[in-house]
Amino acid sequence: MPPQSTPGPQLRLSRSETNFYADSGLDRASEKRKDEAWLAARLADPASRFVPVWRSRNWVDPNEARAILVGRDVLDALPPGDLEPVLLGLAGEVAYFTLDISHVEGGENGPALIEAASATFLDLRLVGPRLAHREGSMLAYARGMLTWHRRHRFCGQCGAPTRSIEGGHVRVCTAEACTLEQFPRTDPAVIMLVTHGDKCLLGSNPRFPPGMYSTLAGFVEPGETLETAVAREVLEEAGVRVHTVRYHSSQPWPFPTSLMLGFYAEAETEALAVNTVELRDARWFTRDWIRANAREFHETDAPFRVPRADSIARRLIDDWLKGEV
Ligand SMILES: [Zn+2]
Repeated sequence: MPPQSTPGPQLRLSRSETNFYADSGLDRASEKRKDEAWLAARLADPASRFVPVWRSRNWVDPNEARAILVGRDVLDALPPGDLEPVLLGLAGEVAYFTLDISHVEGGENGPALIEAASATFLDLRLVGPRLAHREGSMLAYARGMLTWHRRHRFCGQCGAPTRSIEGGHVRVCTAEACTLEQFPRTDPAVIMLVTHGDKCLLGSNPRFPPGMYSTLAGFVEPGETLETAVAREVLEEAGVRVHTVRYHSSQPWPFPTSLMLGFYAEAETEALAVNTVELRDARWFTRDWIRANAREFHETDAPFRVPRADSIARRLIDDWLKGEV
């Protein structure tokens, strides 16, 4: 039997048509960003806005659930560092950049760039679902770009330093004999809700907090289609063969560098052979049982919790609970 918990209020099911972090609304200006003079003018423009990221944390006002952006004047006051602003894009005529300020010393809430009592550098996942959709997406985009820059400061082919060009959308090797170009990467991962009749399969990963159950997931390997990756992961983790793999939607998940590709898949049988290295538990749950017993992710004392509200895992579960799939 699944673990029992006291009946609670129904879950707040997702209402959004778009996954969290999926659409910043910015024009990425793919052609303009190749023009160095245009970029320099945007960087110097007092109207341009900058999204600071400090040690993988985004700057937000959690009380008002909003991102804090700054102007060029605030950046000019920072201690000198190896700053390589990355162009996120344009909203109308206004350019938006992001900048890694991890070299600036800061306390528990990170450096205080401007006077703002509740401003703090936070892991985006702690506040993302409360931010305006496009704002949350822009912060996720910024985090993803800067993680890539931080991890690609040296050439993977010859080991020489690389430098940022095209507004931060390319890094090029500085060795004349090499000049290898690298582009921002995102790692495709499949995430799937496996169903059988009125039941779905949820697992608890050893890395999850206690009581949390979610969809199965795994990285796509070279030489695989998305569909074969779904089937392989489910077989490896739960010992179940699936058919009828159907795409749902995708979600940028820059924690640190993934693109989550969401699917539904139907199981041939309910017999499980759970891989206890990958999962500490996996079980079938009916819609009614989940509706009656599941609690929100933040209810940390609950014996059965569903994934956080900003995740595509949650969206897959919610849409299935609503009978939309
Ligand atoms: Zn090189």
